[in-house]
Amino acid sequence: MSADPAPTQPLIDARGGGVIRERGQREVFCGLTGIVWLHRKIQDAFFLVVGSRTCAHLIQSAAGVMIFAEPRFATAIIGERDLAGLADLNDELDREVDRLLARRPDIRMLFLVGSCPSEVIKLDLSRAAERLSERFMPEVRVLNYSGSGIETTFTQGEDACLAALVPELSRDDSDQASLLVVGALADIVEDQFRHLFDELGIGPVAFLPPTSSRDLPAVGPSTRYLLAQPFLTDTARALEERGALRLDAPFPLGEEGTTGWLKAAADAWGVDPGRFDARTRQARQRARRALERHKQELAGKRVFFFPDSQLEVPLARFLARELDMRLTEVGTPYLHREHLAAELALLPDDVQLSEGQHVERQIDRCRAAAPDVVVCGLGLANPFEAEGITTKWSIELLFTPVQGYEQAADCAELFARPLRRREALAI
Ligand code: SF4
Repeated sequence: MSADPAPTQPLIDARGGGVIRERGQREVFCGLTGIVWLHRKIQDAFFLVVGSRTCAHLIQSAAGVMIFAEPRFATAIIGERDLAGLADLNDELDREVDRLLARRPDIRMLFLVGSCPSEVIKLDLSRAAERLSERFMPEVRVLNYSGSGIETTFTQGEDACLAALVPELSRDDSDQASLLVVGALADIVEDQFRHLFDELGIGPVAFLPPTSSRDLPAVGPSTRYLLAQPFLTDTARALEERGALRLDAPFPLGEEGTTGWLKAAADAWGVDPGRFDARTRQARQRARRALERHKQELAGKRVFFFPDSQLEVPLARFLARELDMRLTEVGTPYLHREHLAAELALLPDDVQLSEGQHVERQIDRCRAAAPDVVVCGLGLANPFEAEGITTKWSIELLFTPVQGYEQAADCAELFARPLRRREALAI
């Protein structure tokens, strides 16, 4: 959890089209949380958090629903002696890494993940990663990024991790256009997208992060990339510094978002609109049919988003346009106007957006709005439930495959389920 103790008044940003911008106490998980889905994606990577017992507890409870024979994450605990400067932390870290790599020869990529304690004592993990890489390359590549709550919110851990991967990508100087899909997606979703790109004649296609650290894609001026997640600001910047060009698109949530996302790639590849229509028609129809059932349950229901995952704007667009839900406030930790341009254009004109957080004020606004469902983090969900307010825990939207045509109804189901449960309890 992280907090900024300097609250300021909410501002109405006239240029921002009525966006409430707040600074104050926040209720958001830190970037370490991303390890829970990233370690499942890059299957030969290991995430070693250099942190405290609190960090270890956070990861353990976020991943608590899973049992592993050989987990691919751990915490190297910084003890009191270390904090007091009584031990050489670099030596201790090297010893831990030695032990880990000797025990786990399957590890090909090791991420040293910074935390609040490692930052406070200014432990230089980038130098540690360089030093360890020199020792263990070519068998193991050692990288670092920060998941500290001082610097990152919940999904920014993935951004920091992928941005750390970009310098490792080899250079592509060819003239052949290639597509890079950026952002961790469930394997099943990745397979479906690969198939659709194939059908449309778009390629070659690579995904970042890849399933194996040995399959890092090349990048260069002929690379066109599509963001699969809206929280990848630093990764996008790093890719653009390597010459890659972002394709402007909505995010692949719901039938409409998925179609817009695929269409951006299809247009860049000059795919004939008739072919695009023919190759996507069945999947689009299937998604729309599957959403009908949820629409009957969700239409007219009012939803309030607390800022958490940065998925809030695309989700709000999906819920409003494909399920006829009514948006009260759509809060997001950061409003990246460029990456969200296609999404913002699709939102209803009168939607109240908010950026940043002053949690007390936002709770007041939420209570006043009396929504049917509140999308928020765990710290707020339990007290809201106790007040009789129905909640959806936003982290589930990262753990569940929700992108693409075949998952559109699953995404809707995540919002319908808590409302159904509330109705059942009320009987
Ligand atoms: S990184 Fe910071 S916010 Fe995250 S669990 Fe560790 S101490 Fe808490």
